[in-house]
Amino acid sequence: MPDVFNWQIGRPMSYPHEERHPQWQFAFIFNTNRCIGCQTCTMACKSTWTFSKGQELMWWNNVESKPYGGYPQHWDAKLLAMLEEANPGGQVWDARSKDAASKPYGTFDGMTIFDAAEQKPRPDYGPQKALGYLPADDEWRHPNIHEDTARGDQFKQDGQYGGSARLPEHKVWFFHLARICNHCTYPGCLASCPRNAIYKRPEDGIVLIDESRCRGYRYCVEGCPYKKAIYRPTTRTSEKCIGCYPRVEGKDETISPDGAPCETRCMAACVGKIRLQGLVKIADDGKWASDPQNPLYYLIRERQVALPLYPQFGTEPNGFYIPPRWVPRPYLTQMFGPGVDHAIEQYSCPDRELLAVLQLFRAQQQILFRYEIQQGPKVAEVEVTMPDGNTKTQEIFNDTVIGYNKFDKEVVRITVEEPTFERPKEIHVNSI
Ligand code: SF4
Ligand code: SF4
Repeated sequence: MPDVFNWQIGRPMSYPHEERHPQWQFAFIFNTNRCIGCQTCTMACKSTWTFSKGQELMWWNNVESKPYGGYPQHWDAKLLAMLEEANPGGQVWDARSKDAASKPYGTFDGMTIFDAAEQKPRPDYGPQKALGYLPADDEWRHPNIHEDTARGDQFKQDGQYGGSARLPEHKVWFFHLARICNHCTYPGCLASCPRNAIYKRPEDGIVLIDESRCRGYRYCVEGCPYKKAIYRPTTRTSEKCIGCYPRVEGKDETISPDGAPCETRCMAACVGKIRLQGLVKIADDGKWASDPQNPLYYLIRERQVALPLYPQFGTEPNGFYIPPRWVPRPYLTQMFGPGVDHAIEQYSCPDRELLAVLQLFRAQQQILFRYEIQQGPKVAEVEVTMPDGNTKTQEIFNDTVIGYNKFDKEVVRITVEEPTFERPKEIHVNSI
């Protein structure tokens, strides 16, 4: 297999296809600290794309409760166990070799799904291109099994149950993990397809299945580590998230009369304001072109406050997460890699610029390509608990952050301090 460079694991890795990169890459950040598990995103997607016969099991967007939930059930625990079996004790990171530009999280010394498939072909399935498994039918039955089920039951007996939810780490905890297809740089689904029916669009990196080429072998379902390629029995083909590409192309005249790219349905519907979608510029060598005024580039590459989900799988996913600050670090580290401590430290006490950029989540429907900050007065000082348990004083300034669309037109202007509006009692007599 040819070698490609994966910046998220900080090293070259084998992949079944030659290195080829889009001009722009569809990417997104989910702030897990803010997700309330309301499933508005899930229903926005379902009512747009997967409401037909044979699509009942398809939740291109799903929100699961961690640590117990998953759709399909145990998708991540199962694959982690398979990788551990392929490389016992070797699935480790070397975080000392960090370098902000080429390997921001250090180097992953273990096996990716592509390495493991090469070195440990499984006789029952024949050689795979990407290590994976086909979920059984009953594993697709419950889109949100174990909803809101917390871990930490042992504290119930000794009476600490109530007092165990204190920062920096809660003893009793769960969190919501929203997921869509990551439109990976090195997709496991694409690598696994013997029909070459899956492709990555050169203009925006969105990964699509060509339904006319698909024969329903389900190798993509097996090879996607995130289980986001899903089989449809009525058509005997596989389907997956299409990144709402008509919206990304700026074809929705209502929200984008000038044809500027718009956020997907799941992003635009998010009640908790946890989502920020973007397009990042890709340089000729496949690296992210330096673009520090792009909100996604700033948050992911400059500040490293948002991290990829299971980067060790090796697909270079383009979905990034601000980790939940109350969850025990070992759990988060196996899920988001060794950048967790740094990300939580940044998020716990954001400086002036970071706090301003964080306001851009779900503040508009058009994709932001650039931001600017206008400085405002200092409005507060608050004491925050840092990840090491110490407290720190955070200064808050009422700065204004302005976002610009693809045509450099201002599309959002928002202040750090949320404005309050008083409704006149003369016309809102019953208002509470
Ligand atoms: S998340 Fe899965 S379906 Fe989506 S591009 Fe990556 S490997 Fe393919
Ligand atoms: S709409 Fe937003 S807050 Fe609600 S479940 Fe989806 S991601 Fe979470």
